[in-house]
Amino acid sequence: MIRTGKFAVGLLCSGILAACSLEPNQLQSTSTAHALIDQVIERENVPGLSEQYAQLRKQQIAQVDYKLSITIDKTGEAFSGRVIADTKFRRNLLQPLTVDFAGGEVAGVQVDGNTVPFEYNGQFITIEPKYLEGRKHAIAIDYTHAYSNNGSGLHRFEDPVDGEVYMYTDFEPYDANRLFPHFDQPNLKAHYTLDVTAPKDWSVISSVREESVKANGDVNHWVFPQSKKFSSYIFSLHAGPFTVWEDDADGIPLRLFARKTLAEYVKPADWFKFTQESFAFFQKYFEVDYPFVKYDQVIVPDFNAGAMENVAAVTFNEGYVSRGEKTQAQRMRLANVIAHEMAHMWFGDLVTMNWWDDLWLNESFATYMANLSLAENSEFDDAWENFYLGTKQWAYDADQLPTTHAIQLPVKNTDEAFANFDGITYGKGGSILKQLPYYLGKEEFRKGVSNYLKDLSYKNSTLNDFMGHLGKAAGKDLGEWQQQWLYQAGLNSIHASFQCEGGKIASLTIEQSAPADYPALREQRTQVGLYNMQGDEMVLSKAIPVTYSGASTEVTAAKGEACPQIVYPNEGDWAFAKVTLDQVSVDNMSKHINDIESPFTRLMMWQSLEDSVLDAKLPMDEYVRFALANGGAEQNINVIRMISRHLTGHFMVMSQIDMDASERKALQQAIETFAWNQLNSAAAGSDAQKVWFGTFTSVAHSKQALANAEKLLNGKLTIKGLSLDPDKRWNLIALQNEHLFGDYEKAIKDELAKDSSDRSQLNAIAAEALRPQQAVKAKWLGNILENRDQFKLAQLKYAASALFPTGQQDLYVANVDRIVAALDEVNSSDAPELVGTYARLFPLNCSKEGVEQVEGILNSGKQLNPLLEKALKNRRFRNQRCLDMAAAMNGNAG
Ligand SMILES: [Zn+2]
Repeated sequence: MIRTGKFAVGLLCSGILAACSLEPNQLQSTSTAHALIDQVIERENVPGLSEQYAQLRKQQIAQVDYKLSITIDKTGEAFSGRVIADTKFRRNLLQPLTVDFAGGEVAGVQVDGNTVPFEYNGQFITIEPKYLEGRKHAIAIDYTHAYSNNGSGLHRFEDPVDGEVYMYTDFEPYDANRLFPHFDQPNLKAHYTLDVTAPKDWSVISSVREESVKANGDVNHWVFPQSKKFSSYIFSLHAGPFTVWEDDADGIPLRLFARKTLAEYVKPADWFKFTQESFAFFQKYFEVDYPFVKYDQVIVPDFNAGAMENVAAVTFNEGYVSRGEKTQAQRMRLANVIAHEMAHMWFGDLVTMNWWDDLWLNESFATYMANLSLAENSEFDDAWENFYLGTKQWAYDADQLPTTHAIQLPVKNTDEAFANFDGITYGKGGSILKQLPYYLGKEEFRKGVSNYLKDLSYKNSTLNDFMGHLGKAAGKDLGEWQQQWLYQAGLNSIHASFQCEGGKIASLTIEQSAPADYPALREQRTQVGLYNMQGDEMVLSKAIPVTYSGASTEVTAAKGEACPQIVYPNEGDWAFAKVTLDQVSVDNMSKHINDIESPFTRLMMWQSLEDSVLDAKLPMDEYVRFALANGGAEQNINVIRMISRHLTGHFMVMSQIDMDASERKALQQAIETFAWNQLNSAAAGSDAQKVWFGTFTSVAHSKQALANAEKLLNGKLTIKGLSLDPDKRWNLIALQNEHLFGDYEKAIKDELAKDSSDRSQLNAIAAEALRPQQAVKAKWLGNILENRDQFKLAQLKYAASALFPTGQQDLYVANVDRIVAALDEVNSSDAPELVGTYARLFPLNCSKEGVEQVEGILNSGKQLNPLLEKALKNRRFRNQRCLDMAAAMNGNAG
């Protein structure tokens, strides 16, 4: 799966709890001495599935296959179904058998054709062992279940534009049992035989292609052949009057689906090209043919994540469809998610983790492989720059927060499966997998992965299986590596220290340090880059491979090299470490930033400067002046994206911090003018033009700039090459509303009249919520805190994110008591989506009061929901960091 901008938080395995991640995983062995199957165990009546109970069921059940019949329609509130679970038991059961089934109604249960009594508590069905004597039974269950409206289970969506209905499933980790009663755990893999009764004009999509579709009055009956064997969380059923495109990749039939009203914006040529390139790469890399019979990709509305790797029927968030012309970065994002989900077909779907504690490996691996596939077999030569800009910065940021944690953690139950999913699991996990081939050898790593997939096809595996295969292929014991990287949190810093004599390097060492809370130093292999001016370009004169460990590592191979003007101790970005530049390098970099030949190096230099600002070592105004003086000459789009991101961030921080008012005014005005000039001078139709348009709409605040924005919207002003697609128009409308400029209300109405799509309606909500008016804030707070049942989750998320932009501190202060007062109710809610939305109501508050307020909640003695606690701890940290940045700027740096 790919997560997008969602809070996912949970138990912290830090400090005192460090040992918790070292507990052996006993789930793997079904023959453990203290077998659960010898005990009489009662399943607790709670939502979700515990690891221990899953272990018991693995010991009870030797094999299971499902035959599933489902009837869906356009107008009903519920669907009905019948499932037959052909089950082989390992022996006669001592305990009752439970079948997972959340939130449905059970009409009856039969064992081998005989009706038997059962209990159903809304979470699972219980059958007493006396009805299951013997080793082999067909357990049939007739049931109904409501369609879902929150994106989990079988979700129903009605298109506001044409009234058509679409459905899709989303199951990970534990929602497949909302489609049909079964044993919903990844290590009970099964074959599925499906038939579906559906409205006549609908397509029905699952893991295999249908073998027949027969008309029966005004419905069709779809029959699918038996599937391969896989876990139920990647089984799927999608249906609706989709538009469909077809192609193929090396004989694998490809289809792409989108709902009708979105179809005009879909670029099937891109989707198929990226899909074909990734197939070509993965089949060769893994040396294992694509294991399933066809490959469908379905673009679906209201999707909670980015995408999901259902076997041969992958779902994608509609956010990947742009209603205007995409930038290369947006196209790369699409190529990346396509490759990510495809990598899961092998790693996750063919070979599947035994239990959810290895979910991070699933995701880290797909993250790494997607980028490798792009770098090696696509038009995106800058895939690793993009990885550095996105995934790696996400990971560095997360690893410096007070809520950082080890990558590998125990997962006690399905509720915890995603609790720790954040920049550590995807970002840091993906980053250390990028380092591993460099550490072990590229071909050794590939061979290890390939052998792992071959040996464990259609089976389940653990982290040790994976590490064992890599270690064997490379002839290395990875035990120590695992200890350093998987079981301990924290980000190390590295720093090059060197002396020159007579124009040559006399000594060069890499110094490594660690934060006080996480003192471990680690071993990594990377390169030291030595840079010198040649003519008018700063070029890499030498890259020296080095494996460093401990506090200080001498780089003997550097001795005698020409004295460098810049030393970069993570050349090529192989290591996972924060680079602190030495003073000589900082001075030369500042003088020559635009002379540095390699865009990747420039990217890393700009990030080093930004890190210094965040660490309150470099005053923010100095960075801003440096960026305004040097950023305009930058031509590389990734570096432009980075500078734009930093300037926008600093503009927002300046709205809040205590600083000289005329200084603030001058700097913010300078940023606005810079963005406008860059927008106007960028090449017509270029990606840079689109990036600077985004920057401009984020920082425009003067009367002049707002007037220009309004003229752009009304067509009275045009910029050559800049086409205003609906999403860009909404940016301008949001800006107008945020500043109550012009006829801001009419702008929303007019746009909705032109475009009534669900995306347009969400943008309208955000634009309204941005208005600096107490009545608007009160209305939307009421909707989020009190009347949320009347809204879709997506609507509340849009409103919560827009409600308090950084320039509206006074309105935030006026409303914060009401937000805090709702804490207890939110805290007691078990709906993670509500907690995540609520957490958005604590935006950056860069003041002493802002820090104290969050502190007060954290110290109130309340038992906080873990997700909320994590969000608040990070908020306190960011508020305090912002204060430290302000102090550094005002000359009070400590
Ligand atoms: Zn994934």
